[in-house]
Amino acid sequence: MPLIVQKYGGSSVADAARIKNVARRIAAARERGNEVVAVVSAMGDTTDELIELARQVTDQPDRRELDMLLSTGETVSATLLAMALRALSQRAISLSGAQAGIKTDATYSRAIIEAVRPRRIKHELKDGQIVIVAGFQGITTEEDITTLGRGGSDTTAVALAVALGAKLCEIYTDVEGVYTADPRLVPEARKLVEIGYEEMLEMASYGARVMHNRAVELGQLHHMPILVASSFKEAAGTLIHGGANMETRKKVRGIAHDLNVAKVTVLGVPDRPGIAAALFEPLAQAGISVDTIVQNVSHQGLTDLSFTVARSDLAETMRLTQPVAQGIGAQGCREDAALGKVSLVGAGIQSAPGFAARMFRALFEAGINIELITTSEIRITCLIKEAQVADAVRALHRAFELETD
Ligand code: ADP
Ligand code: ASP
Ligand code: MG
Repeated sequence: MPLIVQKYGGSSVADAARIKNVARRIAAARERGNEVVAVVSAMGDTTDELIELARQVTDQPDRRELDMLLSTGETVSATLLAMALRALSQRAISLSGAQAGIKTDATYSRAIIEAVRPRRIKHELKDGQIVIVAGFQGITTEEDITTLGRGGSDTTAVALAVALGAKLCEIYTDVEGVYTADPRLVPEARKLVEIGYEEMLEMASYGARVMHNRAVELGQLHHMPILVASSFKEAAGTLIHGGANMETRKKVRGIAHDLNVAKVTVLGVPDRPGIAAALFEPLAQAGISVDTIVQNVSHQGLTDLSFTVARSDLAETMRLTQPVAQGIGAQGCREDAALGKVSLVGAGIQSAPGFAARMFRALFEAGINIELITTSEIRITCLIKEAQVADAVRALHRAFELETD
């Protein structure tokens, strides 16, 4: 029997009616003669609500306890979905990440999957069950529960598809696929028929929340095609793959934006060797990823050093950076949380000149000031004011004529 791995996101299981809708879809897939493993996210905004609850109890929640708490969200939806399937006279069983064999390291809140041992899943499939797996969670060798980072249920799904040898991983969500920009921001954004792993990885890493970036990375590593489609409508989705038959296309694939951005500037840093290491080692140890680093030209032996982190990491970044800044004799630290990033992504960018200039002109004409610029071979990113991000995305979408195929 062919095996299907599906994933349903938070808004697709937001209430009882939607859980029943998902159950009907899974039952239909089963009745078409497939074995089905379905990964689910927590219902609606549950994860945000649990984080807020923890914050009301303490402003520095213990990381282990927080992961244990957050994992409950996915457990709730998995159990309810299994019940809804049974109510449709299907045989179904829910499994936690641990029961599903998702083994992770112990980096709470952003744990990495080290191995998948789907022994129990295989056993249940063989027994004729539909298997519902709680996404986003795993277990360490010490048997502590971990979570994979926000949006991590996608990663659970791709990891299981790989481990179970599925041909495809199906991600069902509240939009019909991957678009040239967030369709909530740009109504004329165009749904892509397909997109390569590399481009999707850049889109996801720079804010296109429709896919968890690590899920894309896993797909690329294991050549697992990923279909992104709607859980509400029967409509063709977007295939993420590495195949050769990519549609003939423009050089810009899409615009990603990210509002989860903050900038830290360390002022008046003495310009001598070892300073950058002193500043960034503690952040690396805390698992905080630093995105853009800019060191200004030094004046009289002093320089300003700016870098960006996720806004959700800002408080901890400041807590770690302030004492180091003092220790190295810097003049102080400044933070700016009201920033966002807008990125132009496309494999063709690397081979053709002029994209950056066109991007900067479009932003200039929209009255938008650029604070920092970073690039990769297939991406150009500008750091701008948060309040201008929506305008920037629309201006770039127009400037690169992404609404037309
Ligand atoms: P789920 O709960 O199903 O995982 P998410 O909220 O994580 O769903 O991701 C889907 C959302 O991603 C969409 O509602 C959309 O607003 C957003 N999004 C951002 N960029 C894009 C894009 N380029 N294409 C499609 N959706 C996007
Ligand atoms: N529930 C988790 C989150 O909100 C994981 C997910 O939805 O993929 O981030
Ligand atoms: Mg998601």
